[in-house]
Amino acid sequence: MKGICILGATGSIGVSTLDVVKRHDDQYRVVVLTANTNIYALFNQCMEFKPDYAVVVNEAKGEEFKAQIVGTKIADMTVLIGAEALVTVATLDSVDSVMAAIVGAAGLLSALAAAQAGKTVLLANKESLVMSGDIFMQAIKDAGAVLLPIDSEHNAIFQCMPANYTAGHDAPTARRILLTASGGPFRTTPLKDLSKVTVAQAVAHPKWDMGRKISVDSATMMNKGLELIEACLLFNMRPEKIQVVIHPQSIIHSMVDYVDGSVLAQMGNPDMRIPIAHAMAWPERFDSGVAPLDIFSVQRMDFEPANLKRFPCLRLAMEAISAGGIMPTVLNAANEVAVEAFLNEQIRFTDIPVVIERSMNEFTATQADTLEHILEADKQAREQAQQVIKALVV
Ligand code: NAD
Ligand code: MG
Repeated sequence: MKGICILGATGSIGVSTLDVVKRHDDQYRVVVLTANTNIYALFNQCMEFKPDYAVVVNEAKGEEFKAQIVGTKIADMTVLIGAEALVTVATLDSVDSVMAAIVGAAGLLSALAAAQAGKTVLLANKESLVMSGDIFMQAIKDAGAVLLPIDSEHNAIFQCMPANYTAGHDAPTARRILLTASGGPFRTTPLKDLSKVTVAQAVAHPKWDMGRKISVDSATMMNKGLELIEACLLFNMRPEKIQVVIHPQSIIHSMVDYVDGSVLAQMGNPDMRIPIAHAMAWPERFDSGVAPLDIFSVQRMDFEPANLKRFPCLRLAMEAISAGGIMPTVLNAANEVAVEAFLNEQIRFTDIPVVIERSMNEFTATQADTLEHILEADKQAREQAQQVIKALVV
């Protein structure tokens, strides 16, 4: 029986993870569930899965939650409040696997702590890896932790890698990665109309049902930019060896091209329970609850290159990897601030890359050799992005 800690339990990935756990309660026991503010969802999850610990990051909501469980069947569950508690629960002895499914930089310290504690890290929170890069990968190696990608593309690539492949190592016979992308909701929208895109249009992804931040990232294709950086780190590959391929049907979730000309692809219905179940059962397999792929309903699969004029965020991510050092951290931080401003209807959709580019221009790619340096770059980039937004909206 493995103990699992689900960081970000109330989000899209968290909910899908619990759906898989429910099918395999003979193999997994929920030890921890965490939420930021959504205590309504957290309460229902705790009543169903009866974890030992629940964490609420928001202080006021945490107190409310403590009062809510009094007199219920989960009254003796331990409730911790605040961001530091995420690190505490990610490193508990009773936890074997940590699902890192918090969105954004807020997930960094807990994911890193899980890595340092030698846990099996199921990594959905790509932002933490993009921010901390080599430090995160080194922590995995030093602690002998197992890192399994949950992002569908990276999980697909992992599945197409040679047997016994370990994240962060070389795979000399793999010559290229083909990183697929759906192209999001605006793949064919006339360029002149992009500035008028509404929040509702941007979060309505044609193939995947996801949280709001990653949905906007998919619409700008910053998601693919972050994933390009993520793939370089997870598979120890230079960015030139990773090709972004737009594949609107989202049936192939990425491919690995080998030196002999063989190209291996992983296919499946676009449902995150597939990569989640893959990582949870690894190195075995078990049922994910997803219906079998009906190959006849696929009919056709299209592939096209990504247009960097249409998707400047992808270009900015490529520039951030080439620059190296703290630049991916700056890119990620400025993107988080810009996306939030767009979701709050402060800036237009087409302002997102403007905010990121103007912020990046204010930084030089100094080495990202310590966690302190990374956290400082993250903080400064957020402040810079806020300045740019202020200047844009007057
Ligand atoms: P979501 O918005 O649905 O859920 C986010 C979760 O994080 C919630 O449980 C929320 O309570 C928690 N959270 C938010 N802010 C927090 C904070 N400041 N402190 C602590 N917890 C906080 O997001 P999601 O779509 O589930 O995505 C989660 C992560 O997984 C992201 O990094 C995303 O890029 C990645 N991912 C998601 C999908 C998907 O299909 N949803 C696919 C691939 C990768
Ligand atoms: Mg993905």
